[in-house]
Amino acid sequence: MADILLNVEGMKVYYPVKGDFGKGREFVKAVDGVSFRIARGKTLGIVGESGSGKSTVGNCVMRNLNITSGKIIFNGQDISRAGKGELRHLHKQLQMITQDPFSALDPRMSVRSIILEGHHIQRMDKGMSRTELDELAERMLMLVGLNPKFADRFPHEFSGGQRQRINIARALALSPSFLVCDEIVSALDVSIQAQIVGLMMRLQEELGLTYIFIGHDLSVVRHISDQVAVMYLGKIMELTSSDELYAHPLHPYTQALISAAPIPDPEADLARERILLEGEVPSPINPPLGCNFCTRCRYADERCRTEEPPFLDVGGGHFVACHRVNEEA
Ligand code: SF4
Repeated sequence: MADILLNVEGMKVYYPVKGDFGKGREFVKAVDGVSFRIARGKTLGIVGESGSGKSTVGNCVMRNLNITSGKIIFNGQDISRAGKGELRHLHKQLQMITQDPFSALDPRMSVRSIILEGHHIQRMDKGMSRTELDELAERMLMLVGLNPKFADRFPHEFSGGQRQRINIARALALSPSFLVCDEIVSALDVSIQAQIVGLMMRLQEELGLTYIFIGHDLSVVRHISDQVAVMYLGKIMELTSSDELYAHPLHPYTQALISAAPIPDPEADLARERILLEGEVPSPINPPLGCNFCTRCRYADERCRTEEPPFLDVGGGHFVACHRVNEEA
């Protein structure tokens, strides 16, 4: 039995908004009944277009956002409705790294202060001497592949990739066991992306970390993830191991995403079929009645427009939400 570190069950996040044309209160269904588990030391990748709810899932796990219903169990403890004091304690274990390394770092703070900021907030610096704190900051810099002599420099003196390494060092300084990595390479050049992904994989190996890795680039997410969840309009459409998802995508939305992702071999890239997704993602205030994907799916039939497909294991832990999955297979 796998050692499950994070268990999310039926999580919903609905925001009330004022309805159009005098309609009463309506709800934005940002996340609509999402469930998944992550074993200790493993990575769950979450992919999907913008507006799919993937970053909201990450922020809910961090408890930066409240959930409307469902459960978040971390390390055996229900943290769904944890109060302020519990959250402060929790954030020693759970840390988040965000997309933009430029805005995430306070330009007025030295790298040393940035890395030690969490220790001050958590009051973990009590009882630590100045020398011990300095050594900690320098050790964190070395851990992420930066020169410890950089500790007294300021963020503007670094490149984008180096700033993201500082961001990672700041998250690691509290010795967390779990990191939510929200589009952490999206703002970086392709060559730097590979270096940061390689760094995250090395850190996972060395420190036994568990990740949620959120991204829209399927090849990057594939590389680092053990399992991948594909989200669309607040729901998980497909969830399975990374290898299985890319070898045998079963949901029409996953098939379209994979068909549009660039592949390195130009001949194979030209030869393969591209599935074009027509139309826009529907509003999360008024999602379609049946399957969320029915307005853009080339296989949609009457049942798809009226009945929501269950999220079922079609074999070997490969979960799909599609009425016609067996026909497609
Ligand atoms: Fe397409 Fe129907 Fe499957 Fe939804 S349930 S993905 S609309 S075939």
